[in-house]
Amino acid sequence: MAQLDTRQKLEILADAAKYDASCASSGTSKRNSLDGKGIGSTEGMGICHAYAPDGRCISLLKILLTNSCIFDCHYCINRKSSNVRRARFTAEEVVHLTLSFYKRNYIEGLFLSSGIIRSSNYTMEQLVEVARELRETHDFRGYIHLKTIPDADEELVRQAGLYADRVSINVELPTVSGLKRLAPEKDGRRIEGAMADMKGAIDDLKDARKKYRSAPKFAPAGQSTQMIVGADAAKDGDIIMRARTLYDRFRLRRVYYSAFSPIPDASAVLPLQRPPLMREHRLYQSDWLMRFYGFTPSEVISASTDGMLPLDIDPKLAWALKFRENFPVDVNRAPRDMLLRVPGLGTKAVAAILSSRRWRRLRLDDVARLTVSLKKVQPFICCEDWSPRTLTDKSDLTAWVKPKREQLELFPG
Ligand code: SF4
Repeated sequence: MAQLDTRQKLEILADAAKYDASCASSGTSKRNSLDGKGIGSTEGMGICHAYAPDGRCISLLKILLTNSCIFDCHYCINRKSSNVRRARFTAEEVVHLTLSFYKRNYIEGLFLSSGIIRSSNYTMEQLVEVARELRETHDFRGYIHLKTIPDADEELVRQAGLYADRVSINVELPTVSGLKRLAPEKDGRRIEGAMADMKGAIDDLKDARKKYRSAPKFAPAGQSTQMIVGADAAKDGDIIMRARTLYDRFRLRRVYYSAFSPIPDASAVLPLQRPPLMREHRLYQSDWLMRFYGFTPSEVISASTDGMLPLDIDPKLAWALKFRENFPVDVNRAPRDMLLRVPGLGTKAVAAILSSRRWRRLRLDDVARLTVSLKKVQPFICCEDWSPRTLTDKSDLTAWVKPKREQLELFPG
């Protein structure tokens, strides 16, 4: 490997890390250094690069320890056979960079992953060393997200959880056959085994903290994973079912969906074209429906055609249009779970409806104040002064509620 200075390494290793989407920092515990002790905080604002699902703007130093790898996963730019410039940081260099960036207010935390060097254990030791050094030597209280290596020793993965806010292990592909074909050196059972161990450790330490306040915190922001979309033949239905299983079995905080993007010097087994980015967006919406709107995976999938979600309308609207017999929903009487099924009403709007209707009967104007598109909501509700009558039976209802695509003008008149 040619001698590179820190700036050159950073250029290579930050670029190599951009393919990992699972770096949002929501859900961790609050820590700060306002008492004059330690350095960093999980809550501050810096130069922001990403928004966490809870709306907070976060900035992380997102890098790989190295982009060299002994594995040859077809979809990965860092695979052994890829013809890219390689670089490697030492653990001390990453610690130094994190601290100096933090002190300059460039970042609020660190997202650290790595290609596999020498062995899974050796790589994991290096990742843990960075986190240990930051926490123990420098009393760093900012956010740390560590990628863990599924084959690494259980004790090393446990240590990662002691120092990091969030840990993640990528399942990579939604199906076992996809993983076998595109990442033959990875073992789906080991990946799931590592997630199960992590869940066990998170639960144990949570229980211990209920009994002993001095018990250490363990991965307070939980574990997450990422699935690549569009690199294999898996349909949206397969991805949705897999995500639900992962949430249920390993109590994941998040599943991230990353649309496969063709990489330079790509392997011949990969598709030549990337899937539409909208597909990734629709999968995030379906994920939201399962986590916050009470939809079962089969209900979400029932809104699809041949296992693929529509790209032109969101899955909740697609479900409502397909199962019109459930509508209209009376906003003055319907239970929360039915209100949540109305296209255009989010969880906050539903909470506002439930709270205001205790005092008075709601009119269409009241609902209009709670949604960005009354046109989308109208066919699916009735209220004090509005009933859609035969609107839900209209054959062209889809065209009526579908968001219009507008060509934005650079110089509107
Ligand atoms: S193990 Fe990770 S870094 Fe190595 S080739 Fe596979 S996906 Fe890429």
